[in-house]
Amino acid sequence: MLTVDTKKCTGCKICEKICPFGAIAVVDKLAQVQANCTLCGACVSRCPAEALTIERRRVSEKELVLFSGVFIWAECEEKAGKLIPKKVARELLSQGRRLSEKLGQELSVVILGDERLNGLDALIASGADRVIRCRHRLLSRFSSNAFTSVVSALISKEKPSVFLFGATPHGRELAPRVAARLELGLTADCTGLDIDDKGNLIQTRPAFGGNIMASIISPYTRPQMATVRPNVFSPGEPDSSRKGRIEDFEVALSPAAIRTKLVSVEQLAYEGSVGIEDADIIVAAGKGCQKKENLTLIQELADALGGVTAGSRALVELDWIPHTKQVGQSGLTVGPQLYIAVGVSGAIQHLVGMSSAKTVIAINKDPDAPIFKVSDLGIVGDAMEIVPMLIKKLKK
Ligand SMILES: Cc1cc2nc3c(=O)[nH]c(=O)nc-3n(C[C@H](O)[C@H](O)[C@H](O)COP(=O)(O)OP(=O)(O)OC[C@H]3O[C@@H](n4cnc5c(N)ncnc54)[C@H](O)[C@@H]3O)c2cc1C
Ligand code: SF4
Ligand code: SF4
Repeated sequence: MLTVDTKKCTGCKICEKICPFGAIAVVDKLAQVQANCTLCGACVSRCPAEALTIERRRVSEKELVLFSGVFIWAECEEKAGKLIPKKVARELLSQGRRLSEKLGQELSVVILGDERLNGLDALIASGADRVIRCRHRLLSRFSSNAFTSVVSALISKEKPSVFLFGATPHGRELAPRVAARLELGLTADCTGLDIDDKGNLIQTRPAFGGNIMASIISPYTRPQMATVRPNVFSPGEPDSSRKGRIEDFEVALSPAAIRTKLVSVEQLAYEGSVGIEDADIIVAAGKGCQKKENLTLIQELADALGGVTAGSRALVELDWIPHTKQVGQSGLTVGPQLYIAVGVSGAIQHLVGMSSAKTVIAINKDPDAPIFKVSDLGIVGDAMEIVPMLIKKLKK
């Protein structure tokens, strides 16, 4: 419930301007909350007199049953003038489907954008029972303020039991804001999801520098919120005969609620057309490559295979490669068909970023290097002798 401290309220009307739902009005110099308040929280942090508070109680066991359904956020990317769901949406759908079936509840996809939204049928084919479309001109590009307000309002209305986001840069920005606004728990960067016998979401993620896997539950707040690393789960096979429905959520957004302004967009310069997250073939370099100049061999090998280069954090720290190429816990998660690790030891923090690669080939001079434990094929020897031989063979 949103309460106004009448002793503190100065009647400044900031809350009235901010509220996207017209749910607070200043009458006789005092803010008054209307029945249509969604508890989205947008006004609370903007009140200069700290006169507004939202009290949220722990969800009691009786109330838990009121929250139902698994929701995922389908992040979109712009392609040929259209807003299309990213691959991570299909990965979340495959997990969401499994969880919703275990819970016996519906799977809904929330998608935000403007009139250019496209590819909604593909979301149904990938497992959604329902697509909730949120369209507004202020949602044409990702805006943390606007998206937080809309997702928070939607959660307040729909009361889902589980809400999953991709742990992409935007997902990592949006999910914590929604969780903070609605005072919910949130587990970031999950690599495993399941349901326990009480219907709680078990959220598994690496902890303590990746040395243990922690299983986390949020028994007192609903929805249970998690971000999920891209490329950890494979997207299921779409089934175009699946039936689902598309519903519109009425978006109320005031420009005053958006405090950030997009000044310009700069495309990252990838070698080839894709970043490492979307690459099918990756040649990853580690400190065993010995010197920066040797990375030209890694590039040559990647070129010969039609792939891209990546590397371990050790190389980022040496400033040999940019952070956008770092694979691992504090870098990116990749899911290529082929991953060739050259002079990479295979520290756990590296492995969590590439363990969903289909085929792993490792080249390392130490036969006991941990990378061999996750490799399909291992070559023991000096990488700087083996890589030129491979390039020569491939070029033939
Ligand atoms: C909180 C945290 C987060 C982290 N996040 C990440 C992350 O996201 N990604 C990441 O990669 N790391 C991460 N790390 C660091 C990680 O623990 C390792 O230190 C790092 O992965 C080691 O990189 P490396 O394998 O390139 O180097 P090293 O561990 O130094 O291994 C070099 C390997 O090369 C082999 N070698 C040496 N010479 C040759 C040669 N001539 N030919 C063939 N093989 C040779 C060696 O046998 C060795 O196995 C993180 C650490 C922490 C604490
Ligand atoms: S922003 Fe705060 S002080 Fe201003 S009218 Fe609203 S409740 Fe009152
Ligand atoms: S901004 Fe949100 S919390 Fe504040 S009055 Fe409007 S709907 Fe209620």
